[in-house]
Amino acid sequence: MDSDKITTITDTLAAVPVAELTRSTAARRVAELASESELVVSCFEHRVRLPLPERWCPDDRPDLGEPPGWEAGVLPEAKYQSFCHDRRVASFHPGHRAKWMTHELCHGLVGFAWRPDASILFHALAARLAEVLPVALWYFFDEIDLLRCPRHVGSGALFDLLCPACEALAGTAHPRRPEGDAFREEGLAFVRREIARTKESITSGTPLPSRFTTLDLMSDGLAYAAAHGERLRSREMGELVERFCGAGTGHHESLESLMARIEELTAYVVDGARATALRGGRWRWIAQDLGWRFLQIRADSEGEIVTVLDGLIDVLAGSPGEDAVTRAIVGYEALAEDWEVPLPDDALAVGYPLPRGYGRSVQQLGDGVASACPVAFGLLGDDAGETVAAFTLEDRLERRPVGRRFADFLERHAPTSPVTMVARYEAAVTHAASRDAAELTLGFDAADITMVRLASGVELVVAPPGALDDEVEDATGAQLVAVVRDTDGAVGVHALSDAAATVLARLELGPASTTELELPPEELLVLIDAALIAPLRWGL
Ligand SMILES: [Zn+2]
Ligand SMILES: [Zn+2]
Ligand SMILES: [Zn+2]
Ligand SMILES: [Zn+2]
Repeated sequence: MDSDKITTITDTLAAVPVAELTRSTAARRVAELASESELVVSCFEHRVRLPLPERWCPDDRPDLGEPPGWEAGVLPEAKYQSFCHDRRVASFHPGHRAKWMTHELCHGLVGFAWRPDASILFHALAARLAEVLPVALWYFFDEIDLLRCPRHVGSGALFDLLCPACEALAGTAHPRRPEGDAFREEGLAFVRREIARTKESITSGTPLPSRFTTLDLMSDGLAYAAAHGERLRSREMGELVERFCGAGTGHHESLESLMARIEELTAYVVDGARATALRGGRWRWIAQDLGWRFLQIRADSEGEIVTVLDGLIDVLAGSPGEDAVTRAIVGYEALAEDWEVPLPDDALAVGYPLPRGYGRSVQQLGDGVASACPVAFGLLGDDAGETVAAFTLEDRLERRPVGRRFADFLERHAPTSPVTMVARYEAAVTHAASRDAAELTLGFDAADITMVRLASGVELVVAPPGALDDEVEDATGAQLVAVVRDTDGAVGVHALSDAAATVLARLELGPASTTELELPPEELLVLIDAALIAPLRWGL
């Protein structure tokens, strides 16, 4: 990619880590067209999900209405309601891997098919089509020249497994690899098959699936139609399309038009063929996003509130620009003063900066910090609100959980504060990495122990005084401990002798020879027993 293209990308997708936009040729192409289309990226943890109007919930699924809250520093997604295909906002979830960015931006470029009188089968096929290229990117096109670690090179997308080594490598450089052609051909075949089966579904009048391993986009499409059915057939959805989605903005009247868009973008992503950017621009996508939130609030309101919201929606739809967005925000502030509607801090928390300081939810991020680092949050006392507000302002799009980001923030501003030490420790425990199954199974059986390394998932952190009450005799001072999540999900915190702490701190930098480490044999056995170290190779 030439350097002025990079500038273009960072201009509009400024907040996204550049490596995620350039990790493969396919990812780079998606990013360039997304940048030209001025797509908006929203941080999932900064964005407040408004409760779903009751009549949009499927009858047997009242649980879909209220979005789930934080659990141990993770804000879960509601499977089918948290994402929709109908807005040009790509979601960035700090707990997801980098591959999602391309998938999300691609959704924005592909768009959606919707018609006011459409049947459920239409909506299901539309949802299926919307996923075709984002999924093909994930499993095939992104893999053509993506770098992978020695363990995973050549095997393609990792499905449910998250490999830190692969994540670190991606985005460094991407030379052509021989197996790339296979991913290209398989991906093209996948797209062709999905489109052919969709056409057959239309002519036969029945949903016809097509499988790739455990994936079945037809059944996903049906599930989407089931969860979103009421919303897709609502009056509000009609207004969204009519008022905010003009020509070239990603809305397709027919499935055929959506299929043509998928074919156009596939040729672009794979071969660099020409593809058109979306027309509208950043402020139209923002007006659309905000307009939808107002429509959603209106669906649960009556009387005067409906009239005022209608006026604000008119402002947003009239001439979507920064000025209209600002006026709509001011109007909503006034509405919330007089009437019982979601607070502006929630309604306007879209996950990216808005005029008048809105956009990111301090409350929601504070709940996340309290869930990940409860003791540190408690220690902040009266300062908690101010500290979290400052953290929210500085918080970036980072694939790093909230507790760790908060501890980083404290370290930047108050490196010597005891609260920082507590937060760092709590974040390590809350977000502890898992052990490696292969390493656990092999243990030190037939191991070559001339060289050892820190076992996978093990993290060293300073435990604040008292944190280990029951586990160590001398809990008077802070001390280095090893933290790791065991296979049963429980987090083990291992107290370390001075000698063991020195050795593990050395291994944090990389493998070392056991003789060089000068650890007494009985201490070595303790580390082996606790599986805190691992060999580099095993014999037969
Ligand atoms: Zn999405
Ligand atoms: Zn998707
Ligand atoms: Zn890997
Ligand atoms: Zn700062």
